[in-house]
Parts: sequence; structure tokens; C-alpha cells
Amino acid sequence: MKGKDNPDSLRVLIAGGGPAGCACAISLAHMGAMMGRELSIVLFEHKQYGIHYNQCMGVLSPPIETILSEHLGLRLPVELVQRTIEGYWLHSEHNSIHLTNHSGEHSEHSMATRRVLLDRYLLTQALKAGVEVYPNRVIDVEFCDGGVCVYTEGGSFEGDMLVGAFGLDRQLGDVLHRRTGYRAPDFLETVITKIHPGQHNVEAQKNNIHAFLPADPAIEFAALTPKGNHITALVAGQRVTGKTLREFLDSSLCSRVMNFPYQIDDLYKGSFPICPAKRFYGDNYITIGDSAGLLRPFKGKGINTGLLSGWYAAKSILERGVSREALSRVEIDFAEQIGDLWYGRAARAMAGVMARFSLLDPVLEAARRSPQLSQALFDSVSAQDTYRNIIHRIVGSPSTLTSLASESVKWLVNGRPQREQ
Ligand SMILES: Cc1cc2nc3c(=O)[nH]c(=O)nc-3n(C[C@H](O)[C@H](O)[C@H](O)COP(=O)(O)OP(=O)(O)OC[C@H]3O[C@@H](n4cnc5c(N)ncnc54)[C@H](O)[C@@H]3O)c2cc1C
Repeated sequence: MKGKDNPDSLRVLIAGGGPAGCACAISLAHMGAMMGRELSIVLFEHKQYGIHYNQCMGVLSPPIETILSEHLGLRLPVELVQRTIEGYWLHSEHNSIHLTNHSGEHSEHSMATRRVLLDRYLLTQALKAGVEVYPNRVIDVEFCDGGVCVYTEGGSFEGDMLVGAFGLDRQLGDVLHRRTGYRAPDFLETVITKIHPGQHNVEAQKNNIHAFLPADPAIEFAALTPKGNHITALVAGQRVTGKTLREFLDSSLCSRVMNFPYQIDDLYKGSFPICPAKRFYGDNYITIGDSAGLLRPFKGKGINTGLLSGWYAAKSILERGVSREALSRVEIDFAEQIGDLWYGRAARAMAGVMARFSLLDPVLEAARRSPQLSQALFDSVSAQDTYRNIIHRIVGSPSTLTSLASESVKWLVNGRPQREQ
């Protein structure tokens, strides 16, 4: 039965069961029960987690445990954590620095997980909360009579509201664009693989993630993350291919870390958004997570923002309704994320230009001498703080600026600094 037949009832159709879709489904179920609402929540997810892959590094950043417990009433199962991340190596073309957290403010560590197991856990929790889950792909949507009709490979479904949590699925993005004017966010391409260099070489990384900002214009950034028994390698850029990843792994930059023989597993293609989607909500629909473009540049915290946006969307739907006007409030709820995307874009553009011209080398050198700059780089790479705060901290610290200026001058006069590691 649709909600318009009974004003207190509501049927929400969710396309996609990643972190954003599951968080929205679970939050609707929990909050709806507390409010005494008659709710029907239907979620469509065609992937079988474990058989199909998820093109993600699976690094969970703080405050993931707080988000899970305070917003979703869930606990992160310890068996999902393959490794606790204690630090980061940041590599520019000719320099490297080890970064750890020296701020007393954020004491939680990031954690490396197997992403499909996290997705499977969240979907199981949605089922437990009473959500109807169908293993179907959504192929079309129509909006009429104050509601929505969703067409799937397993039949059609009517509801009051569509929640688009389909990541960057281009097919469904195009459908929504035709029906509503929604425009999917621009994105960067990624290629990811697993490397099995033997347990000894995985352990040699000592629970550190390696992040690379190479001068090669084909690559915006690259990363190596030690997992349980392998290392996950990633390259990201406007147009990256399997060849880009192989060339990066064979490069002298990467051999600073991967100085051992290795074989690569299958390659996985993916993408992540680099700006907010246009018209990400309207009458009877809202998009969340990657579909809404809510992802911090350089990949960080996409899982966290997906979970939070799902929770905010559920709250908004239940408290205010399903009209465009009622949903417009989410712009305020998402303000921190959306606002920070612009700071992140500025940081990304600056890092890109500096990497191309090897200007990051003196920045890393300056960070060795400046604890504030080192902490700012740690917060940026580990996604522990917003780009807005990080940029303000750097610009507002005369000692950091002096250190940056003096290392840059030294580098220009004396040439390349000595590389650590
Ligand atoms: C290479 C790479 C590495 C990353 N590493 C990290 C990291 O380490 N840490 C981190 O926090 N973030 C990381 N991210 C970002 C993170 O993966 C995303 O931000 C996060 O998964 C967004 O969650 P979501 O639910 O919005 O979308 P997704 O996780 O993409 O979920 C969308 C779901 O919708 C389903 N779907 C799509 N189309 C349909 C359809 N038509 N019908 C039904 N279902 C559909 C998909 O099968 C999928 O399960 C990474 C991203 C990439 C590309």
C-alpha cells in the first residue's frame, strides 16, 4: 500500500545496498519504529558480496566506530579488521616522509578491512532491522501520482520515495537524469589490484599506508595498503588504465617501497566522485553517498560520508516528508561535507600542480622540521580533519609558512633534498 492511502504510512524504495543505502535503510527502520510510523522499506542490491568485488581499499577512518554506534546502533565486528593502520608514508617524486598522529584530539586509528565483508555485514543488519532486500538491479524509475515506480530485473515496485544509493552506476544515473534533471558527479577513474609478495614483505610495511603524489601527469595519486596477507595497490587519475597501474608498480618511485618480486592479481576498475551531483534531491527522490558526490577528494572517508548521508536522509524523510521543499533541509545537514568538497578541490588542484613540478619535495622537507605541517599532512592523508581546517591551520601559522618558504628557497638554490627511507 502506498503512503498516500494512509498519511501515516510510508514506503521507501532504496536503489543500492552499499554503506549509504544500508545506513539509510537501517536508520529508517530504527527511527520509524521509535516514531511509531507504519513503514515499508525495500532495498535493491544486485551484487552478491563475496562473489562480486567492490573496488575499494577498505580503509575505515575515524570516527567510523562512533558513526556506527551512535547513528546506526551497530558495533564494528572485530573480525572485519585485517590491520590497524598506525602511520602513513607520503611520497613525492624525490622525497618521502613518515607521518604519524601527534595530536591528542583524534586518538582513533584507521583500520584496513576487506570491503565486501563490511558491505555484507551492513546488508545483514538491514535485513535484521526488517528491511525487504531484493537481489535485483534497478533498471528504470518513473515518478507519477505523487509517488515513484521502480522497475527492476525482478518486477516493478511502487512507493512514496526513491533513495538513490547506487554509487556511480552510470546506467541508473542516466535514467535519473532523464526523469529528474539529476546530474551524476564528475569522477576520477581508478584501477586497483592485490599483490601477494609473501607475508614477510606485507609485514615489512609495519602497518603503514603508502600514499604517492607522482610527477607523472597520468596519475593523480597512488596508494599501497597492507592488508591481511597481501598489499592492495591503487592508481587514480582522469584516465587511468591497467597499463598505468603496471607502469606505476614498475616505477622507481614505487620501488622505494616495492623492492621485492611480486605478482599481481586481477585488476578492478572503479571511480570516485570529485564534486557534488546536480539536483541530488527533488520531489519524491534523494541521492546519497557517492551518487550525491559526497566524497572527500583523494578518496578518504567515502564510507563514513556514505553512512552519515544515509542517516541524514532517513531523518529528513521521516521528520519532514518527501517533497523537494521538505528534503531541501539536507543541504544544511550535508553542509560540512559539501563545503569541504570545495576546499578539497582546491587542495587537490594545488597538490596536482606542485606534484607535476616536483614542488612537493621541499614541502615534505619542511614537514620534517615543522610539527604543525607534519600534523597537517597526516590529517590530510588519513582524513582525520576537514580540508577547511587543515588549510586554515597552515595559512594561519606563520612558523609553518616560514618553514615552507625557507625549504622552497633552499631547494631552488641547492637542488633536490636528500630522500629519506
Ligand atoms: C578505488 C577506490 C578506493 C576507495 N577506498 C576507500 C577507502 O579506503 N576508504 C573509504 O572510506 N572510501 C574509499 N573509497 C570510496 C568508497 O568506496 C565510496 O565512497 C563508498 O563505497 C560510497 O558508498 P555508497 O553506498 O554511496 O556507494 P557504493 O559503495 O558504490 O554502493 C552502491 C551500491 O549500489 C549498487 N547498485 C548500483 N547500481 C544499482 C542498480 N541499478 N540497482 C541496484 N543496485 C545498484 C552497487 O552494486 C553497490 O553495491 C574508495 C573508492 C574507490 C573507487
